[in-house]
Amino acid sequence: MPSAKPALSVLLCAPRGFCAGVDRAIQIVELALQRYGAPVYVRHEIVHNKYVVESLKTKGAVFVEELDEIPETAQPVIFSAHGVPKSVPEAARYRSLFYLDATCPLVSKVHKEADVQFRRGREVVLIGHTGHPEVVGTMGQLPPGAVSLVETVEDARTFTPRDAQNLAWITQTTLSVDDTRDIVAVLQSRFPAIQPPHKDDICYATTNRQEAVKAVAHRVEAMIVVGAPNSSNSQRLREVAEREGCRRAVLLQRAGDIDWADFEGIATLGITAGASAPEVLVEEIIDSFATRFTVSVEEVRTAEETISFAVPRELRATAAARSAAE
Ligand code: SF4
Repeated sequence: MPSAKPALSVLLCAPRGFCAGVDRAIQIVELALQRYGAPVYVRHEIVHNKYVVESLKTKGAVFVEELDEIPETAQPVIFSAHGVPKSVPEAARYRSLFYLDATCPLVSKVHKEADVQFRRGREVVLIGHTGHPEVVGTMGQLPPGAVSLVETVEDARTFTPRDAQNLAWITQTTLSVDDTRDIVAVLQSRFPAIQPPHKDDICYATTNRQEAVKAVAHRVEAMIVVGAPNSSNSQRLREVAEREGCRRAVLLQRAGDIDWADFEGIATLGITAGASAPEVLVEEIIDSFATRFTVSVEEVRTAEETISFAVPRELRATAAARSAAE
């Protein structure tokens, strides 16, 4: 008997979901819980995903926004993958807190670049989003006033440097590749002497996920980005899909958030996930569509990813024991 459900062809972007920095940050919390027991304090959401945060809470992680919410303790304090201003580890040392840094190594690379350019006497122009924790962390690597934030092409057009001959630009790791290119072009045309970063600051994971969306967006009637509203790279994926001509591009955290009216009458759907969204949430959304459609899934892969990052020294023995047990 023919199925009463309409057919839906799902194009699944790959790469999608967890990147090496997010994977490492979550591992750091889990390994710290295993090695030191609960509670383990985490400053800020370890990664921008409610599901991840809630599941770590059930294992004994306690999330705080600032160190002064943490009592005197010998238990570890973990800094999130987004990175922190220099004042945070300083404050932790002052209080003799034992901390583990889950800052993604690719964010640390940007911190080092900011530092090098500053030591060379350059004003650092940071391209990024105001208030994002990564931007707060990067700006906080240098004294107040040393970094100027540029968010848009318009900002780049109106920015007034202290000395146009002594400038360097760096970026947040999770920006739109295309928007950033436009902003950099304006800066370079206004300030030809501006120094670029040694290597692209927008990370491999951000770039790869945007490329995969570009390959799928024009082939589908709607696109779902699984991710959190405060996740920069997820927001960028939704914008990339729209810019590539997909008329319905929505950011969803869970299957329960699906507004079915958005997907009425479609026969093709693209799905991707931001770098902090676990695969289980992608599966949950596909399962939910399968209750209303006869779903077929095709993966569209535009890159292979093999990058992984080591956990901090203090946790390596626990990590080795865990992988031996698996
Ligand atoms: Fe690191 Fe990029 Fe992942 Fe951010 S998105 S945690 S910079 S790999």
